[in-house]
Amino acid sequence: MKPYDLMVLGAGASGLWAAMVAARRGKRVCVVDHGKKPGRKVLVAGGGKCNFTNRDMEPHHFVCENPHFVKSAIARFTPWEIIGFLDARGISWEERELGRLFCKKSAADIVSALKEACRRSGVSFYLGQRITRLEKKENFHLTLSQETVEAQNCLVALGGPAWPQVGATDFGHRIAKQFGHAIVPARPALVPFTLKKKSSFKELAGIALPARLTAGGKSVTENLLFTHTGLSGPAALQGSCNWKKGEAIAIDFLPQAPIDTLFDASGGKPMVKTVIGKHLPERLTRAILPSKLASKQVAQLTRDQYDTLKKRIHNHLITPSGTLGMKKAEVTGGGVCTREISSKTMESKKTKGLYFAGEVLDVTGQLGGYNLHWAWASGQAVGESV
Ligand SMILES: Cc1cc2nc3c(=O)[nH]c(=O)nc-3n(C[C@H](O)[C@H](O)[C@H](O)COP(=O)(O)OP(=O)(O)OC[C@H]3O[C@@H](n4cnc5c(N)ncnc54)[C@H](O)[C@@H]3O)c2cc1C
Repeated sequence: MKPYDLMVLGAGASGLWAAMVAARRGKRVCVVDHGKKPGRKVLVAGGGKCNFTNRDMEPHHFVCENPHFVKSAIARFTPWEIIGFLDARGISWEERELGRLFCKKSAADIVSALKEACRRSGVSFYLGQRITRLEKKENFHLTLSQETVEAQNCLVALGGPAWPQVGATDFGHRIAKQFGHAIVPARPALVPFTLKKKSSFKELAGIALPARLTAGGKSVTENLLFTHTGLSGPAALQGSCNWKKGEAIAIDFLPQAPIDTLFDASGGKPMVKTVIGKHLPERLTRAILPSKLASKQVAQLTRDQYDTLKKRIHNHLITPSGTLGMKKAEVTGGGVCTREISSKTMESKKTKGLYFAGEVLDVTGQLGGYNLHWAWASGQAVGESV
């Protein structure tokens, strides 16, 4: 059989997009996946409604050892490209808070549209097949459980090991290593924090409030949710992208209301807990304020006591015991080191014809549609250049 121009390993968001783009340019393309159905992570994205992009598409929304790496691909692939793809197929979408765009009906609409676009352009699919070996001679030779495939170019779009329930593995990292690429150690990201067994915060399960959470020097103001195991909600998930094990995170429980202003406005007579209790849930107020200070009148506070309260409310330090791990992580942090990848084409600088796209790379988007946007944008870069 004549070799393909491009074999895509992984029928996920980046692989399907790259396959479609290359096939539309007249390339012979095939897509390989061990799953029987393509796009399984897209189907679970955004609670089944798939937050497919964000209107605010700037490089600072991505975590990567080289912060410049994403610039070229996202400058050439704006949110309007994916919006145009959906509009052309009558797939309705809606904008939610912070510029986040979601499908109105179902993420399945995007996956069906991508499959259909690939099929129309002549992409061949090898689904439900285990990959046993990839070799490069003059061309790439892929050994599958039932057959072999040959292609001039190979795109590794195998994602990362986060959320293994839908077939995610670290196989992409292993292939990269086989071709001599460095891997930034994989870590769970966009994942809830866990707290020590005895943490008093666990008694606050169910409380949700807007808070500013700082981890690894980066701050985000979003909803924070206390759970039976630790901290979740968008603020915690975002914080996990920049957090390293053993580090403390800082929480500002009243980002919009400095206690200086609240105490000044109180007139000084009410007790501290009365003033703070107007702005925070009672259980939380009890947990974060030292009981002696909570019952004092505002006017009686010494400078040191005032500073202690300020820290407890605006810079509350907690050291998570860990995270809920890859099983509950929406995305993999780390991955194929971008120093050895062209930021324009996503081609390996070590092996001609070998490409990487999507989550397999050391690029982690914040919450809000950035990971899928990176999958489309990096897939587009590959599809245009093979
Ligand atoms: C619960 C959840 C919700 C999410 N919600 C959002 C969201 O709303 N917005 C957003 O931007 N991002 C979201 N994400 C993240 C986003 O879905 C991923 O970052 C994105 O799908 C990555 O695309 P990809 O093409 O790199 O990898 P994937 O889409 O994961 O595709 C990789 C493919 O490779 C295949 N594969 C893996 N290992 C092997 C192997 N050994 N052999 C053969 N095939 C293999 C897999 O079956 C898969 O089809 C969410 C993730 C999860 C888990």
